[in-house]
Amino acid sequence: MNKFTLAALAATSTTALTALAALYGDTPNATHAWSVHDMNRPRPKVIQAEPGKPPSDAIVLFDGVSVDAWCMGRNENEPCKWNVVDGAMEVTRGTGEIRTKQSFGDCQLHIEWAAPAKVEGGGQGRGNSGIFLMGQHEVQVLDCYDNETYADGQTGSIYAETPPLVNACRKPGEFQSYDIIFHQPIWEGNVMKFPGSLSVFHNGVLIQDHWELEGTATHMTRRPLKNKYAEKLPLRIQDHGNPVRFRNIWIREIPSRYANTTHGGPGVKEADVMALRKETAALLEKKVKWDAPNTFETLRQAMEVLSYEKTEARMEPFIKLAQAYLEGLAKLDAEALKNKKDEIITLRNDTNVLIRNGVFADTCKLRAGLQKIIDEQGFEKKR
Ligand code: MG
Repeated sequence: MNKFTLAALAATSTTALTALAALYGDTPNATHAWSVHDMNRPRPKVIQAEPGKPPSDAIVLFDGVSVDAWCMGRNENEPCKWNVVDGAMEVTRGTGEIRTKQSFGDCQLHIEWAAPAKVEGGGQGRGNSGIFLMGQHEVQVLDCYDNETYADGQTGSIYAETPPLVNACRKPGEFQSYDIIFHQPIWEGNVMKFPGSLSVFHNGVLIQDHWELEGTATHMTRRPLKNKYAEKLPLRIQDHGNPVRFRNIWIREIPSRYANTTHGGPGVKEADVMALRKETAALLEKKVKWDAPNTFETLRQAMEVLSYEKTEARMEPFIKLAQAYLEGLAKLDAEALKNKKDEIITLRNDTNVLIRNGVFADTCKLRAGLQKIIDEQGFEKKR
């Protein structure tokens, strides 16, 4: 448990007051539609991630038996001709590359592979294959266990662009894993905003750390990406003439960071942020009962709404209610005020959040009135 969670729990348990979803951390701003630690913010979907199994939201591309998710690379109507041997899909020399029937964009890909146990050939001729994300960018598969070749063509290289950070190869014949995180290039019209990136874990070891792509798959010559390709394309696996085996292949489609336009990140758009803030304020406002007898709750709910979107139409009744609330407190004796100590401190804290974030002015009369009572009654006096 981090210190913020502890602080939140402490705050709610000592005051025994209903915690508001927002009004704790910094409020929304021009680039963030939610406050810090905002309980109104939608929670991520729950999935199952059991040891040794694909995550429940993954698409299984090969389970050790069926090659139905695949077809031959040159023709989607031609069934995958690679053989299944001992629960693994094996490159069948001369048949050509294969590709998924389904197309994918940004993704997390898990794939296990083994170079032939019988070592044949050397350099790029030993256990060569490759994983082509969207058919465009190759993560090299090669037997680099005691096998010399150029660095930018080693196991786990982004072929012809960059070597892996380390050589984490296991012996030929042993299964190894790639966990790949791929983001495709982002274009705005004909201008590239982001070149795309690849991160790769080889046998659990980070070997490509968010490499920003220089171009598309190539050999010998550099091939910068000049034109946009489709948003989703099949995953391809290379037939380089070596009987490399593949098993346990699953993929998870993931959003581009540019798809998030409402909360931080490189794709954030102020108009979208403000639209979501407006929508949230309108939803929360439905709970605010201006004429309810519990002024304290109403004030808090109203302040939460104001933290998302402050309008004159909302400020007017709020100010009236705040005045009435303070007038009510002014009529109470010390004992009655003491009974409302938690309420008064909580409300003062809420106003502090809004003042800190510029929603309310420093001169906020509600805060001043509450603070005066807190000081006069010694509510925060250290013993
Ligand atoms: Mg290759």
